[in-house]
Amino acid sequence: MIKIMLIGKPNVGKSSLFNRFARRNIAITSDVSGTTRDTNRIKIDINGNEVIIVDSGGLDEDTELFKNIKKRTLQEAKDADILLYLVDGKMYPSDDDRAFFYEVLKLGKTSALVVNKVDNKKDLQRAYEFDSFGCKDVFFISATHNSGIDELVDFIKEHLPKHELKNDESISLEDFLDDDEEIVQEYEEEKDYIQYSEDAFKKIDENHIRVGIVGRVNVGKSSLLNSLTKQNRSVVSDIAGTTIDPVNESVEYGGKVIEFVDTAGIRRRGKIEGIERYALNRTEKMLENADIALLVLDSSEDFNELDEKISGLIAKHCLGVIIVLNKWDLKQKDDKEFDKLCKTIRLDLFKHIAHAPIISVSALTHKRVDNIYKLIFEVYENYIQKIPTSKLNALIEEATKAHPLPHDKGKLVKIYYAAQYDIAPPKIALVMNRPKALHFSYKRYLANKLRSEFSFSGVPLLINSRAKNQKEKQEEKF
Ligand code: GDP
Repeated sequence: MIKIMLIGKPNVGKSSLFNRFARRNIAITSDVSGTTRDTNRIKIDINGNEVIIVDSGGLDEDTELFKNIKKRTLQEAKDADILLYLVDGKMYPSDDDRAFFYEVLKLGKTSALVVNKVDNKKDLQRAYEFDSFGCKDVFFISATHNSGIDELVDFIKEHLPKHELKNDESISLEDFLDDDEEIVQEYEEEKDYIQYSEDAFKKIDENHIRVGIVGRVNVGKSSLLNSLTKQNRSVVSDIAGTTIDPVNESVEYGGKVIEFVDTAGIRRRGKIEGIERYALNRTEKMLENADIALLVLDSSEDFNELDEKISGLIAKHCLGVIIVLNKWDLKQKDDKEFDKLCKTIRLDLFKHIAHAPIISVSALTHKRVDNIYKLIFEVYENYIQKIPTSKLNALIEEATKAHPLPHDKGKLVKIYYAAQYDIAPPKIALVMNRPKALHFSYKRYLANKLRSEFSFSGVPLLINSRAKNQKEKQEEKF
């Protein structure tokens, strides 16, 4: 299949262009640098050809994360047919953009320089500066205003590869046995799965669940806490604190203790209003002490960047998460609208916690608030679950059969076995011959398989691909 890849530093508008191509809102678009972390892909039809458009992560060397993304992107670009390098037309050309662009050119693919965010004549004047990159195919576009896109599509049409691309070779077990004796031997040795000792697992008290209620000011956190703790239930501890002490409030429910952490911050409403950085720090402290986060959103308003930032913190802390759409009483929304809203939440703004269950409630009328407890139990169970190694391996075997692992420079890539090595959240090791060769998109495929087979609702899944004697754990979140 023909593959077109969008490359560029974070925030240049790759996702917006991707959406423009896809004509559907499936990638995150936002001004928060680095929000489109994963590779997104969509098939579109150009002149009767099935073309896959890949929206890569950002190329930027500022952080470790982007360094990895850059490496991965350049690696992935090697098997693309057309590379579109995007830059921000609202800025003057930068040296690092120039350097990255030349690195992309070095791959020797059909490439174009796409100057995005050229919304008006003034922008265009500045955008001409990018001619200094010396690229013969430069396009000035505005992905959000839909200008210059036709010319870009024409360029793609002209450069579609004429020949049919070869199918990705897959390899059968027979080929594998014939091919690579050394690996066969390794495989034989590794046939008995290593069973990780449960002693190494995180120690937890299964009957004590710590919950952080997070969200912007005025979304109804304090009202929700009241509703959750005051309804026919005795608050078992309400430790009074000074103004700086965190106060935790616990309730007994279904034989377990549910502890709402740092509720002083929630109750002292108003104090943190307007000071975003402070509010985020406070949220972060709360999350450090929680197993599960309730992300409270105000369903009567549009969600905003701060909601997204808070959800990013939840993802960062690898917690269980439930999305609570509060103030549902204000809008008489039906099921269809609820489903639509859930879709937007999962596919767009809150993509990195797309696995979270979503519940609509009214903290004011208490409608469905009680159901939050059921979700807390469910998510917590998923959070601390232990998956039997045999089940895990049966799934990996089936998944790799259905979709064989791609080769690495002609060499076979093999997963010997999988095993869970920690809980809260579940962490799974894939022990392999060439761990570095296992592409992120393949891991995501496996993660999706795991999610469809086991219960991972509301919890992140950490995957660590490693060689057999490798100690360090480089986990990736799915
Ligand atoms: P916090 O800053 O997130 O703790 O928000 P509060 O709990 O103080 O709520 C902010 C405002 O929203 C208050 O005026 C509440 O009465 C109101 N509110 C909270 N929950 C609901 C709800 O479910 N429905 C409606 N209509 N109003 C709510």
